[in-house]
Amino acid sequence: MEVILAEKAGFCFGVMRALDIISKVRKSTNLPIYTLGPIIHNPQVVEKLKKDGIIPIESLDEVEGKGYLVIRSHGVPPEVIEEAERRGFKLIDATCPYVKRVQEYAKMLVNEGYRVVIVGEENHPEVKGILGHTGDRAEIYSSDMDVKPREKIGVVAQTTQSFTNLKEAIDHLLERAGELRVFNTICSATHERQEAAKELAQKVDVMIVIGGKNSANTTRLARISRTICPRTYHIETAEEIQPEWFEAANRVGITAGASTPDWIIDAVYQKVIGLQEVR
Ligand code: SF4
Repeated sequence: MEVILAEKAGFCFGVMRALDIISKVRKSTNLPIYTLGPIIHNPQVVEKLKKDGIIPIESLDEVEGKGYLVIRSHGVPPEVIEEAERRGFKLIDATCPYVKRVQEYAKMLVNEGYRVVIVGEENHPEVKGILGHTGDRAEIYSSDMDVKPREKIGVVAQTTQSFTNLKEAIDHLLERAGELRVFNTICSATHERQEAAKELAQKVDVMIVIGGKNSANTTRLARISRTICPRTYHIETAEEIQPEWFEAANRVGITAGASTPDWIIDAVYQKVIGLQEVR
């Protein structure tokens, strides 16, 4: 049985950068470090960080403002930063520079008088952050939104959106708006992982997709893979692997979402290779 790793898999630049920032802060202080929401959508990494005193919180009300507060790669609305500073947290902004760019474009479009449309998931923290940077003057794209003739519309996309979704929104708005200004703010990391997964899924009998079950991008990766290779399994750790998944399989593909660390990918790889040895 041949085991092949996808060409692009695992941590993206923004996640790696956020974890690097957090590790430097940990080395420099004994004060508590909090992250607003889990630093990444990977329960195993979050558990590991907890052991180092890096604690995820859901709201600023959960702690007294004595310690560091890390803003994760998704970013937050500006009022959250203002409130954290007012409460005395030492702020560490690990917002991914690509997400910052979306926030800046959206704000600029509002200031220039555009009706701003975000192509993204309404409840995703990144989208809430972008919305906040426009002073809540943007809206989430929906195919039934009412567009008046000659309206000036500015479009940005959540970084992890698919090109298909962005193109659909542009097509729809282009037919109706007087002026359409589009910033393609989709991050290539997601697209590259999806393309590499598609390519690999065509060549193998079984696909293993590794990443948090709470990670939207890993879940999407598994869904894409499954449309090509029905024997696709989404797992978080090597312990979930079942030997019967590989019956009569000659080739196995492994990929991982942008929030999956190398040590988990490696453990999965070793476990699959090990199964082959006992067959
Ligand atoms: S997926 Fe792209 S935008 Fe999101 S954190 Fe990673 S590098 Fe940044």
